[in-house]
Amino acid sequence: MPLYVYEAKDPRHSCSKCRGGFEVTQRLSDEKLVSCPDCRSEIYRVIQAPGLTHSKTDLHYRAKRAGFHTLKKVNKGEYEKIY
Ligand SMILES: [Zn+2]
Repeated sequence: MPLYVYEAKDPRHSCSKCRGGFEVTQRLSDEKLVSCPDCRSEIYRVIQAPGLTHSKTDLHYRAKRAGFHTLKKVNKGEYEKIY
C-alpha cells in the first residue's frame, strides 16, 4: 500500500505529530486526510516522487532536516515539495 506524508498547513496550529510531517499508509481508494488525527489541525498531503516513499531516512526527510525545500502550490490545498 502506498505511504503518504502529511504535514500541518500552519505550524502554529499543530502538534508534535503533524508539525514535522508524519507518514500514513493508505489504500489508493482511501480519502486523503484533511485534519490531523491527533490535534485536528488542517493538514495537507506532501506529494512525493516514486521511490522515495519507503523509509524515514529517505530523501524527503534528509532534505527536510537540512532545510532544503520549497513549496509549490499545485492544487487547492495540495502542495508539492520541490528540492
Ligand atoms: Zn497534529
